[in-house]
Amino acid sequence: MGKVVGQLIVGGKRKDGRGFLDMRSPFIVKAGTVQRADGSAYVGIGKTRSIASVYGPQLLHPKHLQEPDRAAMKVRYEMAPFSTTERKRPGPDRRSIEISKVIREALAPVLFLEEFPKAGIELMMEVIQADAGTRVTAINAASVALADAGVPMRDLVSAIAVGRVEGNLVVDLSGEEEAAADAVDMPIAMRAATGEITLLQMDGDASLDEVKKLLELARAACMTIYQAQKAALKERYKVPAEEAEAVAEAAPTEIMEEPAKTAQEGEAGKEGE
Ligand code: ADP
Repeated sequence: MGKVVGQLIVGGKRKDGRGFLDMRSPFIVKAGTVQRADGSAYVGIGKTRSIASVYGPQLLHPKHLQEPDRAAMKVRYEMAPFSTTERKRPGPDRRSIEISKVIREALAPVLFLEEFPKAGIELMMEVIQADAGTRVTAINAASVALADAGVPMRDLVSAIAVGRVEGNLVVDLSGEEEAAADAVDMPIAMRAATGEITLLQMDGDASLDEVKKLLELARAACMTIYQAQKAALKERYKVPAEEAEAVAEAAPTEIMEEPAKTAQEGEAGKEGE
């Protein structure tokens, strides 16, 4: 530690051309990407890509796994063997077991699990390409997939990694930035609308002042992500134009116009690369 890694930031710009507060691009959020699942989503940010699938809520078997007053939630985060530059050994390891646990804790506060006693909800997140920020990308996809599955939720959870690279506070670290010797990596998940934090981890040492500033940066980025998540769900459930016209003809006074999409919301609905 303490070794200075140069050239990640030159002239106020990051190596990939981003400013300190810019998220990686392309940033894509799409709902309903896995046909067989009850709910699903794809989230890609830069070179990190994840798919989340949800099965349930449905009656849980075997019976001894049921909880009498709430749905039991099984959460699995996994990195595909082909997701990294060197083949990753398939199957769970200590890291993926820990990440599955923190993701469950990041999502649980927004879920009305008590509405489904004895049921099971299975949430699976597969990282298909990894270049840092996989847990936050998986959370962003999981949140949309749960909503897509019709699980009642208080809110969506949005997540981003913020940190410090060569002394600068930055948003959305790339793999290279995260690997720098003096880097601070702080993955954060929150309810963007209320600011309630549901996950906060930190790799590296930062001062209290830096942490406070990083929280503010995360809050702004999570708001952007939240808008993209909402746009993806709206896109998935939008009424086809012909159908909307037919309804409008039948009851013209009851139809309200859809609000115009922002440029960012439009971006979120685009196809993956
Ligand atoms: P996160 O992906 O949430 O940032 P980590 O900080 O543990 O979580 O991992 C940082 C990055 O290191 C990952 O995104 C991935 O690019 C890489 N990585 C993690 N585990 C492995 C592994 N087993 N093999 C190769 N690369 C890995």
